[in-house]
Amino acid sequence: MKRLIARALRRFGWLHYDLLVSPVTQHPGKSPVPPGELWLVIDSGVKKWACMSCPGGCGVQISLSLNPDRRPRWSVETDFWGRPTLFPSVHQHRACSCHFWVKNGLIEWCR
Ligand SMILES: [Zn+2]
Repeated sequence: MKRLIARALRRFGWLHYDLLVSPVTQHPGKSPVPPGELWLVIDSGVKKWACMSCPGGCGVQISLSLNPDRRPRWSVETDFWGRPTLFPSVHQHRACSCHFWVKNGLIEWCR
């Protein structure tokens, strides 16, 4: 329901985002995550992965580990509207080699 409201607000230009979080229970594996979505893989109440399609245009699936025992690891915060903030930035060494931050659901490109 909140997603529908978020979408409507975005259409009117009152809410800005490139990505919204969708909680899922299983890693998508090789299946593509729809553009505009960040899949938050939550297993037994623990955040495991953040998955998205590369916004740089190559569409490669990006899987970010949220496991605190692994390196590298990322953290994801989600606001009221489901807009994610990722820390640190994402740098694709393979594929299109894009580098970006996700802040409040918006993609901020690094030079
Ligand atoms: Zn890419």
